[in-house]
Amino acid sequence: MEPLPLAIKAGRIVDGTGRPPIERGVVLVRGARIAAVGRQSDVAVPHDAEVIDCGAQTLLPGLVDAHSHASIIPGLGDQIGQLRQPPAPQILRAVQNLRADLRSGVTTMRVVGEEHFIDVELREAIAAGRLPGPRLLVATRPITARNGHGAALTFSDGEDQIRRHIRENVAMGADLIKLFMTGGVSSKGTAARWYAYSPREVEVAVEEAHRNNKPVAVHAHGGPGVRICIDAGVDTIEHGKLCDLEDFVAMRERGIFLVTNNAVSGHPDGIEKGDASVPSIMAKLNESREQSRKTFQWVLESGVRWALGTDSMHGLMWWEIAKVVEWGADPHDALLAATRRAAEAIGLAAEAGSLEPGKLADVISVDGDPLEDITCLERVRVILQGGRRCDTLSVQ
Ligand SMILES: [Zn+2]
Repeated sequence: MEPLPLAIKAGRIVDGTGRPPIERGVVLVRGARIAAVGRQSDVAVPHDAEVIDCGAQTLLPGLVDAHSHASIIPGLGDQIGQLRQPPAPQILRAVQNLRADLRSGVTTMRVVGEEHFIDVELREAIAAGRLPGPRLLVATRPITARNGHGAALTFSDGEDQIRRHIRENVAMGADLIKLFMTGGVSSKGTAARWYAYSPREVEVAVEEAHRNNKPVAVHAHGGPGVRICIDAGVDTIEHGKLCDLEDFVAMRERGIFLVTNNAVSGHPDGIEKGDASVPSIMAKLNESREQSRKTFQWVLESGVRWALGTDSMHGLMWWEIAKVVEWGADPHDALLAATRRAAEAIGLAAEAGSLEPGKLADVISVDGDPLEDITCLERVRVILQGGRRCDTLSVQ
């Protein structure tokens, strides 16, 4: 039997298309999908519809976190060590994390690296309605060199091993391929401008992934490794914290998305909390912090398409959005970077990221007007994911 239609009314709708807000709007939902969006005076609500009246709140598309991990909690420290653990503790952390993510209004998330294929299991459990959490796209095991950042349990050295591991990941259900190119902040031995793979190895990875119809997301902070990845035709550059203006211009020219994040380095509950006792990590963290604001100006100046992720700072998507607004992003544009443009970056724009008829009914309400005060995104009230109400979940 067709479920009853659902009408969600609110003071305004920012629909994720980039168009001006709809005042006194309503979103009409039938089953899992959106049937209509418009002014309350223009959209006919069926007599049998269930009505949720959000009063003066604002309706938005469910948020899209374009870069996170399910099992990691940065504040616990040694993120790579967390990925080396057996599956059980990792899954327990993931269940807690994904619940917090959903409760913060994130209805879709891209998971860019887990061991043991736990992300495939989590994706399936969420899709089947057995576990609360964002709809997941998963990378499964990262492709990283033995001496690379992100080297937890799986290493891929040389062209043959890169191909084999990509094929195994695809066979196990990967939605995308994640490759670690440069060093990272949260590992002890790698420098952020150093890079692990030869140009030929990156080309092989891109060729193998694209032949299997999987996009390639690359962890890269800065230095020559970024250009090698751009030239190889990867799909997204993740982080880019030490890139320069020319790098971002090159990304724009190749149609490559930047997925950026700030909470894990800038929020007190991030790396600062977890790895305060490791001087080599803290030195890189401080460099990243000092550079981040300036780098973001180059992002805006270059015209590269950019999207936001939390990189395991579960529940802090609002903080990511507020931070770039503080650094000069237009609030509406920052919202798009966490909705429609994030959905585009991860290849889900046909289904998620905006409130339009035919798309999945991922709808959240926030207590306030985010175009006036972006921090109201912290106050998420109603959460609808694929037409199902999720905000009544108890959390933590
Ligand atoms: Zn990450």
